[in-house]
Amino acid sequence: MDALNFIYQQIKDEINNILILEKKEELFSYFDNTQLTQLNDNYATIATSYLGKIILDKDDIKEIINSAIKKVLKKDILCKIVTTTNDDYANDINNELIEKELNDNLLPEFTFDNFVVGPSNKQARMAAHACAVSPGQSFNPLIIYGNSGLGKTHLLNAIGNYVKAHDKEKKVLCISSMNFVNEVVKAINNNTIEEYKSQLNSVDILLVDDIQFLSGKRKSEEIFFNIYYELFNNRKQIVLTSDRPPAEIKDIENRLKTRLSQGLSVTISSLEYETAYQILKLKLKMHGIEDGCIDDDVISFMATNFSSDVRNLEGAINRLLFYSINLFETKKIDLSLALEAFKDQDFTTGRGKDLLNVDIIVKAVADYYNLTEKQIKSKSRTKNISTARHIAMYLSRKILDISYDKIGEEFGGKDHTTVINAYEKIENLVKTNEIYKKIITDIEKTLSK
Ligand code: ADP
Ligand code: MG
Repeated sequence: MDALNFIYQQIKDEINNILILEKKEELFSYFDNTQLTQLNDNYATIATSYLGKIILDKDDIKEIINSAIKKVLKKDILCKIVTTTNDDYANDINNELIEKELNDNLLPEFTFDNFVVGPSNKQARMAAHACAVSPGQSFNPLIIYGNSGLGKTHLLNAIGNYVKAHDKEKKVLCISSMNFVNEVVKAINNNTIEEYKSQLNSVDILLVDDIQFLSGKRKSEEIFFNIYYELFNNRKQIVLTSDRPPAEIKDIENRLKTRLSQGLSVTISSLEYETAYQILKLKLKMHGIEDGCIDDDVISFMATNFSSDVRNLEGAINRLLFYSINLFETKKIDLSLALEAFKDQDFTTGRGKDLLNVDIIVKAVADYYNLTEKQIKSKSRTKNISTARHIAMYLSRKILDISYDKIGEEFGGKDHTTVINAYEKIENLVKTNEIYKKIITDIEKTLSK
């Protein structure tokens, strides 16, 4: 992935985020085949198909794109929508057909080749590789667990991509358990659950991401159990990921837990400095920044300050790239440029939990969503206001660790069960939805200043 592409991924995440808040999710698919082709201090050029331009080149959509750009790059840059030179209508339709045929949901960019191995992930990588080389014949099921941002989804996709590349006959399917639940609900409503089940039963390798999300979803869990049982008995490979060891997943049935414990569980632990350092080197290289273009102490600095989660590292690279592309006419990234790029990310002198209170959190969430503090504490049930309120409640509990009762009081006398529901809802979303995860991290960042 080159630098523009990398930045554009973050912008697209933001666009999606805004579309969800504005309840315009259906528009997101128009961004599928778009590309950021140019970026300078004033303009971001986005190329799309002829049809795409008709939809995207409207003031209200461009406004959404502009504010997403601002969020990612912290600058006022305006988007320009252009058509790709080789576009025609037929091309669009062909692409669509191809996509349908290859619907294994695998992310092609996650492979074993670009997975850096270190003590923290060595065991997981080895087990994943063994499953990829001889599916169904080594560890079955394989469960990879660990905190977020440490490479579980990467390894899961690497298995699928490896199998696909080495054995075209094998049918691979990768699905997050959140999508699985959605598909099950949809299939039940449409009376197509049997078809869905037999579709899943026909795969050779089933990869399920974030299995902890099945917790409390009785019907989906039961269907998953049946599929699991069928695949397992037919010696098909199953690989699952989770944010915690299977035995600790709350609210799933014991028979499923027992089944899961028959396989191999491996964990990925926090990155050690050296692994973070190597990952950084690799990611920089993937973005076209060769060793000679960046001082070693910049890489050490980043590995030290952002290594708790690889997504932090990627965010740091993102900022650095933007600075080096646009703000400085420099060929070499040195520590002073890096410090300039990170100057508003105050990682050394956080404000500290005792200086925070519910009102500061409410204000941060209000600022983030462009709402007033009063709206957040109100009883309004408008979707974006209530989502913002739930996020503020979640953060109050998470950061301040005060009782649900107390939080209810602070939010205009709400019942503690309302607060618990809000907390659990957002907690689930953060674990299963990258966009929510990013929203929370972004707000937390503003709070640590
Ligand atoms: P998780 O699923 O555990 O939350 P991901 O697999 O989504 O984490 O990883 C987050 C990001 O970090 C991805 O872009 C991934 O490519 C990268 N990453 C994590 N671990 C490694 C590694 N060992 N080598 C290279 N990239 C990694
Ligand atoms: Mg993941």
